[in-house]
Amino acid sequence: MMGEEKQDVLLRDYYVGVDLGGTKMLAALIADDGSIIAKEEIPTLAKQGAEAVLDRLGSLIEDLLAAAPGGRGVVRGIGVATAGTLDTAKGVVTLASNLGWRDVAVASVLSDRFACAVRLENDATAAAVGEWLAGAGEGSPDCIFVTISTGIGGGIISGGRLIAGVNHNAGELGHISIDGNGMLCPCGNVGCLELYASGTAIGRRGAEHVRRAAESAGSGGALTRLAGGDPNRVDARLVAAAAAEGDAEASGILREAGRALGVGLVSILHLLNPQVVILGGGASHIGEPLLGPMREIIAERCLPSIREQVRFVASALGSSAGAVGAALLMVRDQK
Ligand SMILES: [Zn+2]
Repeated sequence: MMGEEKQDVLLRDYYVGVDLGGTKMLAALIADDGSIIAKEEIPTLAKQGAEAVLDRLGSLIEDLLAAAPGGRGVVRGIGVATAGTLDTAKGVVTLASNLGWRDVAVASVLSDRFACAVRLENDATAAAVGEWLAGAGEGSPDCIFVTISTGIGGGIISGGRLIAGVNHNAGELGHISIDGNGMLCPCGNVGCLELYASGTAIGRRGAEHVRRAAESAGSGGALTRLAGGDPNRVDARLVAAAAAEGDAEASGILREAGRALGVGLVSILHLLNPQVVILGGGASHIGEPLLGPMREIIAERCLPSIREQVRFVASALGSSAGAVGAALLMVRDQK
C-alpha cells in the first residue's frame, strides 16, 4: 500500500506551461518528462487589459488543476512562453505589442496566486525546447527549430544547451538578411528572411498578383477566383490552395518563398552544423510546394559535410510546443 500512496503524491505534483499569445492563451499541466496531462485554450481578450488577462489565466490554471487526475494538484512551477521583449530575471513583460502590454509583472502575479516559481521565456525559444526534449527533436543535442507563420522565428539547441543569448534574444532567424540591398524590415535591417519566406510574405505577394490581375482586367487564374477578386482576402493558405489547383503564379510565389527559406537555412546550417532542423508554424503545413525548393537550394549551396548530417522534420507538438517547453525549462531550473 505504501507504493500506492507514494504514487498518489507524485500524481499531484505538476508543472504548468502557458503559451500567452495575442489572440489565444493555452495552458497545460505537464509531467516532468514533458508529457501533457491536460490542456485548455481560451481567447486572450487582450483589450480587457493585463490585470483581467492574468486573472483569467489564473482561473484557467485552477480549472486544469481541479480536473487533474489524482485530485486537485499542486503546482511546482509555472513556465510562461510569450512574444515581445522580456526581462526574464525579473519575470516582467517589458513590451509586447501583440498584447498592448508595457512593464507587466507576470511572474509575481502568478507566483503570488499559486505560491510557486514562475519563469518567462520567449515563445519561439520555448517551442524549440519543447520540440527538443519532448517532440520532434528526439533529444538530439544539436537541433534548430524554425517556425514559419506570420513571421519567422526559431530557437537553437547546440551541444545539448539552449542558446538563449545574453538577454534571451538569440534565435531571431527571421531577421537573418538574405539580400544586403533588399527590402527594409521594421526591425531596422534590410533583406530579412521573413520578408520573403513567412506566411505574411506569401500572402502579400499573392495579394499583389490579384491586384495586378484586377487592374489589367485579366482572368488572374485560380488565386483571383478563390479570392473573389479581392486582394484583401489573400493569405498564404489561399495561395497554397491556388497552387494545388495548378495556378502557375501561386506555385511561383511558393517556389520563390521556398528558395528564400533555403538561402536563409544554408547560413544557419553553416553556422551551427545541426543534426535536426524542426519546421513548425502554420505556413510549414504548405509542404512540398514550399519545402521542395528549400531543399533544392540546400542541396546546391550547403557544404556537403554539413548537409549530409542534417535531417528536416515536421514539428511534433504543434501549437502546444511553447507551453511544453516553458514548463520543461522550469523543470530544469529546479533540478
Ligand atoms: Zn528584420
